[in-house]
Amino acid sequence: MADALVIGAGPAGLMAAETLADQGLSVQVVDAMPTAGRKLLMAGKSGLNLTKDEPFEQFIKAYGPHGAWMRPALTGFGNRDVGPWAEALGQAVFTGTSGKVFPETMKASPLLRNWLARLADKNVVLKTRWHWQGWQNGALVFDTPEGRQTRTPLATVLALGGASWPRLGSNGGWAKILADQGISLAPFEPANMGARVDWSGHMNRHFGSALKNVTLKSGNKTRKGEFVITAQGLEGSLIYDFSPELRADLPLLLDLCSDLTLAQVTDRLAKVPAKNSLSNALRKALRLTPPAIALLMEFAKPPQPRAAWAGHLKALNVTYSGIAGIERAISVAGGIQKSSLDDCFMLTDLPGVFCAGEMLDWEAPTGGYLLTACLATGRMAGLGAAAYFHTQQRERPSQP
Ligand SMILES: Cc1cc2nc3c(=O)[nH]c(=O)nc-3n(C[C@H](O)[C@H](O)[C@H](O)COP(=O)(O)OP(=O)(O)OC[C@H]3O[C@@H](n4cnc5c(N)ncnc54)[C@H](O)[C@@H]3O)c2cc1C
Repeated sequence: MADALVIGAGPAGLMAAETLADQGLSVQVVDAMPTAGRKLLMAGKSGLNLTKDEPFEQFIKAYGPHGAWMRPALTGFGNRDVGPWAEALGQAVFTGTSGKVFPETMKASPLLRNWLARLADKNVVLKTRWHWQGWQNGALVFDTPEGRQTRTPLATVLALGGASWPRLGSNGGWAKILADQGISLAPFEPANMGARVDWSGHMNRHFGSALKNVTLKSGNKTRKGEFVITAQGLEGSLIYDFSPELRADLPLLLDLCSDLTLAQVTDRLAKVPAKNSLSNALRKALRLTPPAIALLMEFAKPPQPRAAWAGHLKALNVTYSGIAGIERAISVAGGIQKSSLDDCFMLTDLPGVFCAGEMLDWEAPTGGYLLTACLATGRMAGLGAAAYFHTQQRERPSQP
């Protein structure tokens, strides 16, 4: 039997497995799906954003209130480490203008392929279609193609993911198993998800259009970026940034003229001769694109005196009707709470069981923050599990 068992072959689990192997342990990784890393592969379909190149203190702010909890793991393996890690796996990386770091191929498949090969070279054994069912009489129980299997490793790492995109394997089914063991869990909620809007028929022709260099405000948060108009509502990194505010149903204000002050917008509009239609005035004076004009009309509802439009342009009330479901969200909020874990992510009520990745109760926006924290917590859990294994071995009564 392997010294350590890792359940879940996503980025967090594979990082934990490699860390354990590097610490000299024999390691087995199991996953319920037929192949490893399905969500990682999906992440690569839209351009695999590995991390963000920015000063560490700025980087950690993206984790909001969870930053303090994530700090030790991200100090051990942070945004500066992800690029060299990917390059060691044969994936040259580049940094985009916004600081986002991507593999040159943009995909996850070559990285995952090389990573699995490197793990095999380190004698890490991967078993797929092994579905963890929980514990029975202290043993981990799995449904497998060979029937029911039990394992009792000295150290276990759970890296079972969140609950978004359940068809990729991470369906959150583990939450009930851990809740039954008395572990504190925050309920799952979608994170990095779209805002739903009940569009009028006028918007149909703008589905798929992007709005760039716009600013959103909600509560005391202001961010500049871009989003896309879709049949369901609004999606894209700028919308995802406001996941906590959208979940709390807070008002969302859109500034369509980010680079101009209210006075400048008012002044420019006033200079357009009154005989021009409003659309013409917006196009000529402010260079607004047709999708931006359509959004303005949709949310601000004409007729209104021309003088009122400057205010709407700088603070357009985005009337969204809700948020997209967890099944299409990029990530989740919620999961195992800090209070249930020690500094190495071991469940204090279940000694020898460590947890990593998205199953922990933290959230972060898109921009590579998700993968970086999954890798960092996987590494930390792996180090903790290896130390636990060595302590247990030392303390074991020697065999006669
Ligand atoms: C469309 C999309 C795009 C994304 N793009 C990016 C991006 O560009 N950058 C970024 O940083 N992040 C991105 N992400 C998020 C990122 O992919 C996840 O945060 C990351 O994969 C989570 O890693 P994890 O190892 O914690 O969990 P997962 O990758 O979800 O892996 C968990 C594994 O556990 C297995 N499992 C679950 N339950 C059981 C069980 N009972 N028994 C056995 N195995 C089980 C699952 O099959 C799965 O393989 C994206 C996500 C999506 C959906």
